[in-house]
Amino acid sequence: MLYSEIQKVDPEVYESLKNELQRQRNSLEMIASENFTSPAVMEAQGSIMTNKYAEGLPGKRYYGGCEFHDQVEQLAIDRAKALFKADHANVQPHSGSNANFAAYFSVLEAGDKILGPLLPHGGHLTHGSPVNFSGRLFKFSQYTLNQDTQRFEPDDILEIARREKPKLILTGYSAYPRKIEFEKWRAVADEVGAVLMADIAHIAGLIAAEQHPQPFPHCDIVTTTTHKTLRGPRGGIVMCTEKYAKQVDKTVFPGFQGGPLMHAIAGKAIALKEAQSAEFRKYAEQVVKNAHALADELMSNGFNLVTGGTDSHLMLVNLESKSITGKEAEVLLEQVGITANKNMVPDDKQSPFVTSGIRLGTPAITSRGMKADQMRQIGEFISRTMNYRNDEEQKRKIKNEVLEICKAFPLYPDF
Ligand SMILES: *Cc1c(COP(=O)(O)O)cnc(C)c1O
Repeated sequence: MLYSEIQKVDPEVYESLKNELQRQRNSLEMIASENFTSPAVMEAQGSIMTNKYAEGLPGKRYYGGCEFHDQVEQLAIDRAKALFKADHANVQPHSGSNANFAAYFSVLEAGDKILGPLLPHGGHLTHGSPVNFSGRLFKFSQYTLNQDTQRFEPDDILEIARREKPKLILTGYSAYPRKIEFEKWRAVADEVGAVLMADIAHIAGLIAAEQHPQPFPHCDIVTTTTHKTLRGPRGGIVMCTEKYAKQVDKTVFPGFQGGPLMHAIAGKAIALKEAQSAEFRKYAEQVVKNAHALADELMSNGFNLVTGGTDSHLMLVNLESKSITGKEAEVLLEQVGITANKNMVPDDKQSPFVTSGIRLGTPAITSRGMKADQMRQIGEFISRTMNYRNDEEQKRKIKNEVLEICKAFPLYPDF
């Protein structure tokens, strides 16, 4: 039986794990940054690789007994390089935030200027928020969506870059549904002599499966998480051109991390192998198709989508026209078994705790095998939930319909 050792040792934690499995199975996970990793990746994460210190890099460790850890880490490095066409990869960052920390300090000194996206326009906390290390240690200037196109327009960025003269320009987002044309960003960076960095945390799986343009060879340094569309263990990777390779390795260790999480690195190696497969390519194609189908259904039910749609795995719904806040929508959707998160929309009049939008993503529900038909049903559920927000009977009905879909697409059926 699954988790039988935990059940013996710690019944309280076991109870929570059991309930969490039921929650994941019986609701629709539509948080754009989440996914369901494979049983193989989870096995690696629960494996004996957790028992070892392996400070250093394959072949250059500060501890003995690392022969097999070297093999596993080298597999992860080689697979990351192949998948993203990178000269160099460091697979040790514990998270996406750590990967960004490493990237900044590999090419900049504290106090240097970065040009990055504004948080409510799709950026991440590590892109210069004052409550984050990034905003405290670097000078940020921020670019925004173009008011007419609601997209990031490289021409606008160039104008700001000429004025602000940043040392680093950052592209890559948490809530932007459109493709990034990296070559245009390269031209902007070259124009002002800045380093070009891409944070592909959200879109790494789409890039791996050629559903989104590759950042290399256009970017100098690229960071990612491994647990979003890439569907691996929680963690980060930094990749770069040969020029920054030594600096990146030194910044990760001994710069600011100690021993790498070798069980997570084993999981990264496996996830990167999975991401090279024909099945994964089909999966990523379906993620994008599903996002299209859901976006179309929502728009035909009168929802406004920021940028008017999506060509990735996510969409940002502006709820102002529906007279409901992001916070209220998040709670309502949870009541019917749909998990999503409130999100700021451009020029949001609400606070970050309330917001006027919700972000919806298709990576996790696509991992369960759902297709366009289910997306249209789900779009209709979302619409009905908003329209009947005070009708408990309707909401109960929708919750049952959600449960039916979940049962038809079982999650981890062998557990
Ligand atoms: C999720 C995300 C991160 C941070 O990843 P964590 O693993 O949560 O630290 C960084 N950048 C972007 C754009 C993200 O979406």
